[in-house]
Amino acid sequence: MSLDFSTLLLVATLICTLLGGMLLYFGTQEKIPALYWWGAAYLIGAATVAQWQLLGSVLPELVVLSLASAGFIACGMMWNAARVFHGRRPNWPGLVLGAIAWIAAVILLPPDSSSLRMTLGAGIVAIYAALTANELFSERRKAVMRRWPAMLVPLLHGGVLMLPVVLAELLPARSNAYTSNIWVLIFAIELVLYAIGTVFVVFMLVSEQTVSAHKTAAALDPLTGLFNRRGFSEATARMIEREAEAGRPVTVMIFDLDHFKSINDRFGHPAGDEVIKLFAAIVSGSLRISDLCGRIGGEEFAALLPCSIDEAMTAAERVREAFEGCGLEVDGAPIATTVSIGVAGGPANIELDVLLAAADTALYQAKRGGRNRVVATVEQPLSLEQGRRRAAQRHEPVQQVIVRNAMRIGA
Ligand code: GH3
Ligand code: MG
Ligand code: MG
Repeated sequence: MSLDFSTLLLVATLICTLLGGMLLYFGTQEKIPALYWWGAAYLIGAATVAQWQLLGSVLPELVVLSLASAGFIACGMMWNAARVFHGRRPNWPGLVLGAIAWIAAVILLPPDSSSLRMTLGAGIVAIYAALTANELFSERRKAVMRRWPAMLVPLLHGGVLMLPVVLAELLPARSNAYTSNIWVLIFAIELVLYAIGTVFVVFMLVSEQTVSAHKTAAALDPLTGLFNRRGFSEATARMIEREAEAGRPVTVMIFDLDHFKSINDRFGHPAGDEVIKLFAAIVSGSLRISDLCGRIGGEEFAALLPCSIDEAMTAAERVREAFEGCGLEVDGAPIATTVSIGVAGGPANIELDVLLAAADTALYQAKRGGRNRVVATVEQPLSLEQGRRRAAQRHEPVQQVIVRNAMRIGA
């Protein structure tokens, strides 16, 4: 099979232009800055190959070779695209360093050292490919299995480019002339595959990031930034499972702001929203980083703590005191801010709904007892399975078993 070098480069140029246009188009549509970098890199890469083809025989070799430095800027842009994609700043010196090294080599090396130049050029591209792969690898939030194509494509690219350097002795090139050199043909084919493979990886990463952004948004409450009810149940389900495996207890708290309707009525809804935000900040600031908290209703919050009920009571009391003493004022007038808290602890492997129901009963006791207090269930709630077994033994209906008693603690 004979492969025509010029045709291959023409195909590579057209494919890079098309893919670059596509990336820029999607970047504008979806407002993703990294796609501008990737798209522009493709277009500059395509322009570099085109100028080499079109002007190669017209301009002096030194000028054509110097213009090829734009290709290294394109490689630097691919690396910077990966940085920008992960929220990092572009590395401007790194972006132009490859091109500067190339121009220095073109000027300083003797004119007949074309294979040395080729090795240097391949080396620069391989370094950028390794930097890109490293950038994608160091994104630790992604599972390794999902990240492997993102790292493999640039690594393979760098590897193929470095092959002639490693194998130069074993497989000598037929001739030094560019167009008949076997390595140049391999590079041209690899360039096409790399261009297509990279776009596949870019779209895979973008879609993964978009899905994860939507998932996060769906789990968060926009007013407070805490988990909403759905996010809270998902996160707590994972924690309960983890703690159950370790045989450790968990404790749930439900917080309900006292007389909140009256705050809204007296100071207006926006002031009410500020109180909700303030309480959210107090809860998350008073609990440990390992505890989970969420806004599960209008002025109702919940938290799940991986600890015993006794430890959780101390934390609940801390929240109650901090909210009472926050000294909130509207137009110079102090607002009384208090919260009632229901606490329920359970054995390992207890269902969240059972704990919430028990904590809710304790919260009801706190409200009835005069508000601004922490109340814990005295009897440990039973898991649904334990409840069913006990009900069967006593011939009782299941719903009677959840909470029997409540104890008043606090002010
Ligand atoms: P209690 O001490 O018994 O809990 O009395 P309360 O007034 O806090 O309880 P109630 O359930 O009667 O009122 C809750 C109020 O919370 C009613 C609703 O208008 C208000 N609310 C719910 N969501 C929001 C919100 O996002 N922002 C504001 N400002 N108010 C909200
Ligand atoms: Mg309420
Ligand atoms: Mg309330």
